[in-house]
Amino acid sequence: MASQWVDVRDLKFILHEVFKMDEQLLGKGPFADYDGETVDMVIDSAAKLAENEIAPTYPDEVHGKSIDAIFKDGKVFAPEAYHRLWKLYCEGGWMTTSDSPDWGGQGFPSIVAASASSMFLGCNQAFLMYPGLTHGAAKLIEKFCSDELKNIYLPKMFSGEWGGTMCLTEPGAGSDLNVLKTTAKRNPDGTFSIKGTKCFISSGDHDLVSNIIHPVLARIEGDPPGTKGISIFLVPKYLVKPDGSLGEFNDVVTGGIEHKMGIHGNATCTLNFGDNGKCIGYLMGQEREGMKVMFHMMNEERQGVGMMGVSLATSAYLHALSYAKERLQGNNLFTGQRYVPIIQHPDVRRMLLKQKSISEGLKVLCLFCYWAMDQQLVAENDAEKDKWAGMVEMLTPIVKSYCTEMGLVVNDLAVQCYGGYGYCREYPVEQMMRDQKINTIFEGTNGIQAMDLLGRKMGMNEGKYFMALMTGGNAHIAEAKGIDNLKAEAAVVETAINAILQTATDFAGMLGTNPFVPLIAACDFLNCVGDTLCGWFHLWMALEATKGVAKAASDSEKAFYTGKIESAKFFINRTTILVPVKCDILKKDETSCVRIPDEGFAV
Ligand SMILES: Cc1cc2nc3c(=O)[nH]c(=O)nc-3n(C[C@H](O)[C@H](O)[C@H](O)COP(=O)(O)OP(=O)(O)OC[C@H]3O[C@@H](n4cnc5c(N)ncnc54)[C@H](O)[C@@H]3O)c2cc1C
Repeated sequence: MASQWVDVRDLKFILHEVFKMDEQLLGKGPFADYDGETVDMVIDSAAKLAENEIAPTYPDEVHGKSIDAIFKDGKVFAPEAYHRLWKLYCEGGWMTTSDSPDWGGQGFPSIVAASASSMFLGCNQAFLMYPGLTHGAAKLIEKFCSDELKNIYLPKMFSGEWGGTMCLTEPGAGSDLNVLKTTAKRNPDGTFSIKGTKCFISSGDHDLVSNIIHPVLARIEGDPPGTKGISIFLVPKYLVKPDGSLGEFNDVVTGGIEHKMGIHGNATCTLNFGDNGKCIGYLMGQEREGMKVMFHMMNEERQGVGMMGVSLATSAYLHALSYAKERLQGNNLFTGQRYVPIIQHPDVRRMLLKQKSISEGLKVLCLFCYWAMDQQLVAENDAEKDKWAGMVEMLTPIVKSYCTEMGLVVNDLAVQCYGGYGYCREYPVEQMMRDQKINTIFEGTNGIQAMDLLGRKMGMNEGKYFMALMTGGNAHIAEAKGIDNLKAEAAVVETAINAILQTATDFAGMLGTNPFVPLIAACDFLNCVGDTLCGWFHLWMALEATKGVAKAASDSEKAFYTGKIESAKFFINRTTILVPVKCDILKKDETSCVRIPDEGFAV
């Protein structure tokens, strides 16, 4: 029976048949020693860990017993079930799948680590956020700290002995970090005394590890206001002695944890730094370059949040599919058979194919971003390297925002497929929908991502990076035009790309004259870009699936490839096709939401 949690076949199709990683990545540059068989072993063992060990810890309520993170007597306790999982995860080397062997990593391409991670995340996002943030914080240390600090911190973080976080948000500074109030005062020995409160800190405190390392944004006394005056500090929960052993408590006090809509197993903490004047921080990178440094972690986390969107969508879809095959209701309209599995009803099939086509498109979109990172490492010249670096820049806000926005659409449809049972805790799709919602909010809300794309990213390198991304599928379009079964879809994708490029030019003109039109349109435009890119990726998958059908060795393989082609047609003909119309609407001078007086919203 097909898994309700992971889709290994689809992942392998994407890696080997779509991206053709065996020829285009493995065996090259830093991946010289890797081959497709080894990658498949990683994917298979990740699938086993995901399904056999992580998925059983998913429900945040088992037989009436909550498995939330708990705050008691000033301490935070992760759910009991996470302790064994943390050990399995860290000992299995999953924290460092794509990291340098110099630090104990396995050196796989990042697309392999991301593929494994996509399966883990679909089984329990709340748990995965503990190692995810630890990894992100460790990578900052690897890039911006002295060898001395690296030697002490990295082995302990990569092995899971210590954890990590990211501390940006404050009660008055969420989307707008300009106004953050946390301060850093110089000490004679070169360290800084940190003082301030950070809120909403994921994995901010817990008992899975013996120490927690916080990268903290703060302003050095005397530095200018705004983001230009922000620096970043490494602040351990316990001070660390030169031999790596733990010293005194570093005055990082947990004020409490949030009670949230979802991801209950992850402790979202308020952290008070230096209330007793004894919190020491170490500068990371250069003074006043805190935002630049933190962006390295934020970009990794934004791509990771996009993957969370994909993963929860995938597992929700697989659950809905399995339920639809078992739940008996109504009559088959064509055969007259009574009391049939609901998968036989056209409207349920529509919901299922919509979920499948969205989640499979999102998966390629997200993995393409990791593919672009890997391609930078094997690029043969600087121009090629720059092209792929530009792709990652463009894709990061799109992946974060589109994958979480559309992921939520899939979660909604999965609940709908279950009917009333989907709304009840008995089935995990209810929790998946609640868990998914945070992905549209944290790591910069989707609204902020849309403005980043429109106001900053699209104009980078005089718009050439955006152009390269949007025209990246030209060869696939040309190939598909030569195939009878796909030529109509190729035309739809081509028309959508042209509409996006024209709208990007029109919006660039409007930003100087009538900025409200593009600003109001920013979120919808980003989604149109996503609808178009996923159209391209579906076309690409359909091309490979067409070859697959011809060589399929079994009925199930034939069904797999046929399913990919139908999925592509459904997405392109139902979603990508709307892009030109939507773009025309978005360019209209419709600014009522700006004109309406504040009191006009409700008196
Ligand atoms: C469960 C959870 C975990 C989190 N984990 C972390 C963490 O580990 N580390 C960390 O530092 N933070 C974390 N956060 C904080 C998170 O990143 C912020 O909540 C988020 O950035 C938004 O900030 P805010 O909540 O203050 O909302 P606000 O900034 O008040 O935004 C409210 C609304 O206004 C919109 N808005 C705000 N400014 C603008 C603007 N200029 N233009 C247009 N629209 C705007 C936003 O898009 C949003 O819709 C977490 C939050 C939660 C809920």
